[in-house]
Amino acid sequence: MSNAIVQLEHVTQRFAWRGKAVQAVNDVSLSIAEGEIVCLVGESGCGKTTTGKIVAGLLKPTEGRVVFEGKDVWAMSPEEFKHYRRAVQIVHQDPYSSLNPVRTIYKTLSAPLLRHGFARDNREALAKIRELLEIVGLTPPAEFINKYPHQLSGGQRQRVSVARALTVNPRFIVADEAVSMVDVSIRLSLLNMLTGLKEQMGVTFLFITHDLALAKYFVWEGRIGVMYLGQLVEISPTPDLIEHPSHQYTQALLSAIPEADPNLTRNKERIKLRSLDVPSLLNLPAGCTFHPRCPSYKEGLCDRVAPAPLEVTKEHFAVCHLATQSRAVQAGTM
Ligand code: SF4
Repeated sequence: MSNAIVQLEHVTQRFAWRGKAVQAVNDVSLSIAEGEIVCLVGESGCGKTTTGKIVAGLLKPTEGRVVFEGKDVWAMSPEEFKHYRRAVQIVHQDPYSSLNPVRTIYKTLSAPLLRHGFARDNREALAKIRELLEIVGLTPPAEFINKYPHQLSGGQRQRVSVARALTVNPRFIVADEAVSMVDVSIRLSLLNMLTGLKEQMGVTFLFITHDLALAKYFVWEGRIGVMYLGQLVEISPTPDLIEHPSHQYTQALLSAIPEADPNLTRNKERIKLRSLDVPSLLNLPAGCTFHPRCPSYKEGLCDRVAPAPLEVTKEHFAVCHLATQSRAVQAGTM
């Protein structure tokens, strides 16, 4: 992708656990364009959070390269790395533990503003904090500025976490399960606030969630990547992934999403997996790692040969032996 802000090139992350190597991320390549919104979905343990940490520079991958604005992140000078770490911010899942309980909102937000020179003194910091609280929907700001985290609701705390990420004028935000710990009723307004940031400030997003229904809503104009056991098994512009899923795992996830209309949900055919147990990362299955659960598994092929990524349609890739290329891609007309 020519206007990529962040690229992962064949990134693998292994951790040592009781003398064994756990492969949390397996050969992931992903290019995210400036202003784009990409969502990674998958069950817990699929590697999406580790991938997010790698993108944000919190983890150095065991293999592969992370490229920010054309530069290898782990070959940057200390000054360049500082710039990159400021430009790429992460908003964590848990707003309860990510905010310091003994700091007021003013203290939480003024510290990075003053430390990184985005405000010259307390007066400038205060003006900037008011502006940020307005942006994240904590209005009127005077009502929140001197409060402590325990005096706020979960949704309000998560808005403060987003405001803190915005203090350093980020160009890229990794939102890791950023709305999963708040009530369903306020999830929508938080998602709308994040969408607004993309539109008003041109922030690029990597949104991480286990909830494909949420991903579908939030990134309809972006791309969804589906991860399974550390691998990116399918990635596509959202409408094409929802309407024409090519990987058997994506099809199973989609079949489990309830529809708004109860009649549709009742009549929807749910794909039955061969097994509900997710294999251990310590002992990955041979061939396609989804084969012990896949209802369409082909004996002798899926359990022996690892499928290669295939471009199904433009920008839509799937890693499955059953995925077929559209005629337009075969003819090179897309
Ligand atoms: Fe299922 Fe085989 Fe495709 Fe894997 S490669 S998802 S086992 S059909």
